[in-house]
Amino acid sequence: MANKEDAAAECSIKVMCRFRPLNSSEKERGDEFLPKISAEDKVTFGRPSKMYTFDRVFGPSSTQEQVYVAGARPIVKDVLEGYNGTIFAYGQTSSGKTHTMEGVLHDDNLRGIIPRIIDDIFNHIYTMDENLEFHIKISYFEIYLDKVKDLLDVSKTNLSVHEDKNRVPYVKGCTERFVASPEEVMETIDEGKSNRHVAVTNMNEHSSRSHSIFLINVKQENTMTETKLTGKLYLVDLAGSEKVGKTGAEGTVLHEAMNINKSLSSLGNVISALADGTKTHIPYRDSKMTRILQDSLGGNCRTTIFICCSPASYNEPETKSTLLFGVRAK
Ligand code: ADP
Ligand code: MG
Repeated sequence: MANKEDAAAECSIKVMCRFRPLNSSEKERGDEFLPKISAEDKVTFGRPSKMYTFDRVFGPSSTQEQVYVAGARPIVKDVLEGYNGTIFAYGQTSSGKTHTMEGVLHDDNLRGIIPRIIDDIFNHIYTMDENLEFHIKISYFEIYLDKVKDLLDVSKTNLSVHEDKNRVPYVKGCTERFVASPEEVMETIDEGKSNRHVAVTNMNEHSSRSHSIFLINVKQENTMTETKLTGKLYLVDLAGSEKVGKTGAEGTVLHEAMNINKSLSSLGNVISALADGTKTHIPYRDSKMTRILQDSLGGNCRTTIFICCSPASYNEPETKSTLLFGVRAK
């Protein structure tokens, strides 16, 4: 096993950029395909064009498997060694966040990061010796207008964030489901997703305005030595990062937009302070999401941010702003 201090000395925040293919409405409109991916870690984008460097850049023909292997598998390995981690998908609505995090859940090729992580964790468990006992529990919730809603118990619509005796923040009262097989996890995800659908009239609109957070907690106990190890992994499909139109937004829409802006910019501030490495104050307390993620971001944790981008000329301003979010996190 790697020495914890050695591993922690590596940069713990990775930023990976993924461009999806042009979609049918972009093609119909005659949009241009703008990005030029010149190396595994470089993309040139925009008019005038500018080069951006990330830990990886994935083009429109990248597979779910490639994205998983580069961006998530190393984190899973560390979580199984007792580290905490977070994987985010950031980008405007329709940029490929949910495709990256979940994909087509029950399709072998198209399933995204979450189902692949679950398989990897259980495959790991099946190969370990009998002295190791694993306890896997999952939670699934969303944050909408700064309220935490339990997707596994619809009666819990406004949960609060507390700190345990070790000052580790957690969502108080959130359902924790113990699971013993990948099938059970997938059923729980399906359940959470259908609860999310029932509560709203337009799922696409809703998912673009709320953050969805899936938490996997892996506890292992060696029955011979009685040693325990716990790792926690947050998988976050963020609200759409697009700015609300300059005119026309009012009432709920404006309120939602301001709220999303605020929570995404707090996240950006926390991540850039962590990436900077010299800051003594990290502003975790500025939003509910960063408070919840506090012990799984930075420090001794593993983080991958997927910045998801549309390649279309029509979305150029939003894509630029997404690329800049990624640059700030480096
Ligand atoms: P978001 O969650 O950011 O709003 P989605 O993940 O729902 O966006 O993607 C929007 C549409 O584009 C979906 O139909 C999805 O299947 C498709 N899509 C996204 N990324 C890719 C990709 N890399 N390759 C192929 N199709 C994609
Ligand atoms: Mg989505």
